Amino acid sequence: MAERTESESRKLLRRLQATMAEAGAGQERLDRITSIIADSMGTEVCSIYLFRDDITLELCASRGLAPEAVHVTRMRVGEGLVGRVANKMRPINSANAPAEQGFRYMPETGEERYSSFLGVPIQRLGEKLGVLVVQSQEARSYIEDEVYALEVVAMVLAEMTELGAFVGEGAAMSARHQQSVILQGGVGQEGTAEGNVYLHEPRVVITNPIAEDPHAELTRLHESVDELRISVDQMLDNAPSGDAEQIEVLQAYRMFANSRGWMRRMEEDIARGLSAEAAVEKEQSAARARMATVPDAYLRERLHDLDDLSNRLLRLLTGQGANTGAQMPDNPVLVARNIGPAELLDYGRSLKGVVLEDGSVASHAAIVARALAIPLVVHTKGIIAEALNGDAILVDGDAGTVHLRPEESVSTAFRDKMAMHAAAQERYASIREKPAQTLDDTVIELHMNAGLMADLPSLPSSGATGVGLFRTELQFLTRSTVPKRGELAALYSTVMDSAGGKRVAFRTLDIGSDKVLPYMKRPEEPNPALGWRAIRVGLDKPGVMRMQLQALIRAANGRALTIMFPFIAQFEEFTAARDLLMRTLDSESKLGHVMPKSVEVGAMLETPSLAFAPRQFFELADFISIGGNDLKQFFFAADRENEQVRRRYDTLNVSFLTFIEQIVERCADTSTPLSFCGEDAGRPTEALCFAAMGLRSLSMRPASIGPVKNLLRRVDLREVRAVIHEAQGSGAQSVRPAVNEWLRMQS
Ligand code: PEP
Ligand code: MG
Repeated sequence: MAERTESESRKLLRRLQATMAEAGAGQERLDRITSIIADSMGTEVCSIYLFRDDITLELCASRGLAPEAVHVTRMRVGEGLVGRVANKMRPINSANAPAEQGFRYMPETGEERYSSFLGVPIQRLGEKLGVLVVQSQEARSYIEDEVYALEVVAMVLAEMTELGAFVGEGAAMSARHQQSVILQGGVGQEGTAEGNVYLHEPRVVITNPIAEDPHAELTRLHESVDELRISVDQMLDNAPSGDAEQIEVLQAYRMFANSRGWMRRMEEDIARGLSAEAAVEKEQSAARARMATVPDAYLRERLHDLDDLSNRLLRLLTGQGANTGAQMPDNPVLVARNIGPAELLDYGRSLKGVVLEDGSVASHAAIVARALAIPLVVHTKGIIAEALNGDAILVDGDAGTVHLRPEESVSTAFRDKMAMHAAAQERYASIREKPAQTLDDTVIELHMNAGLMADLPSLPSSGATGVGLFRTELQFLTRSTVPKRGELAALYSTVMDSAGGKRVAFRTLDIGSDKVLPYMKRPEEPNPALGWRAIRVGLDKPGVMRMQLQALIRAANGRALTIMFPFIAQFEEFTAARDLLMRTLDSESKLGHVMPKSVEVGAMLETPSLAFAPRQFFELADFISIGGNDLKQFFFAADRENEQVRRRYDTLNVSFLTFIEQIVERCADTSTPLSFCGEDAGRPTEALCFAAMGLRSLSMRPASIGPVKNLLRRVDLREVRAVIHEAQGSGAQSVRPAVNEWLRMQS
């Protein structure tokens, strides 16, 4: 076979394109395609093998092999040379195929006459579709150019949407995308959802893989790559200097965007007749195939970066942006590699669930998902490659499990679980207006946690007494600049309006640690959770805190105002924050603003140190709220974001409960109202034990109020206390087994 010229390749692609566009039965078209390829490549044989399921390939068309073998010959992945190409997704080029290790002769095909073999994978973005093979009698090794040309042809075949119809009766093109898959991720937000996949960044649709004019395509590619480079540089300039991870990713983007090898391969593909988009996608497919085999986690991450960069380039080339016209399905479950908090807020409550390939328990997206009460699963490795728009999906946010294209039996079991949940919610609705009063006549106040205006409508329906924690970070996290005082005042005022006179405890800005504001310069910190965060930032840079306090005072406009300061670790921090509030009240009054009718100033107890603060602190604080999420991580020295340790210590651990009891006693000594507003307050057994330890106020997400109230109304706290004290005395590590046993006996 003579060395191919680029124009020959282009001619071949054009003939292929014309054939694909012709009318007629699919099989005929596929047969014609094999003839065209064989003629153009000067080989006696050209065959197309396609996957009929995850592990089986079927000969679907051939010029040169026995026609009786078509749709009869099948092999498993890894079996024979074709199976090996499919396994590794890499070409095999051999002058003497029968002598190759692993060669398996298929007698029905008559292939024994052919000595040379060149097989290349047919793949699309990590999806294995099949193998394209040419063979000839002459014992010759194909030159690099020919391998390349055949890969380009395989790329064009991969774009043929009807490819799957050729694989026997009833089998489908992408077996992989038909099968049911269970993926395990991490719990981002509890709850369950059934719906259909909606890809946040749907695959760019390439309408024409073959181009007429290589020069025009090259120009398009160069212009788009230039644009890409500029945007990557801008992203790097704007990246927060403290965010080492983001900077590392962007630097990898920049390296790829400037890579000569990447550019050269795409240029060569275009010279052979591919459109600029198809050339980008061919590289992307190769990167995805490598991704599946690279054992090194760091390198895999970098290949992910290249994949993301290719997507950006495709969007620039096609102008499709994030919107490829894909319809949002009914009951959408958003699937994304990652998503920013503002984008997630834009989707809002239209989403039934969110599944992130990356993300983390404490990412901003998770904070928003929690505020919106949307089930969220994070760290779901593989979801992006597996999910297609519209796929059926079940999200089990309680277990961190995702069922993609579930079996009917799984869906049925899942629906049963959701129905039980819904029935329980109905039961809870019947006690909505009733107090959380235990059998021994103790009334526990149940408040709700909120962070968005959109949360407030659930205040009346949840049966909450008020808002025990209004997290004010979201308005800061979802913008690119500091929000204006006027905007905040308007928002806080609407929050108070919606609460209809019920108490709302506004927590001042709690940033730092996991919550990094894009527009705020931060020092790089080895341990951000123990670093410059929350009230520490507020006191060191009082400008933003003062502005927020002014907004709150103006929003109250004569109404009662409740403010609490986060992460107070020592008395002096509380007095300093309180003084700033007092001074702000004073100056606002001088400016003629109406003063709140009352001001309650509380502290969040989130570090063990504050439990041992001087008595004067407990006297000065109008109330104390235990931020159990942080308190627990510091009590056990176990990072709340680290999956490896975050569940290691039980909240009902005897030490932790004893500590809670001590805080209750200290507050009782000074008659300081105490509440608990971490996630644990919304878990019925935990809430019960806190109440038994003496807590009289709990704040939780609205959906938890029903279950917690339901349990509290059925128990006598004196009995629970006795069970806990007995377990404490028995040397048990956790009181949970004893309390669970006692609860079982009650029902
Ligand atoms: C907590 O730490 O328990 C708390 C309520 O604050 P956040 O979860 O916002 O840190
Ligand atoms: Mg906290």
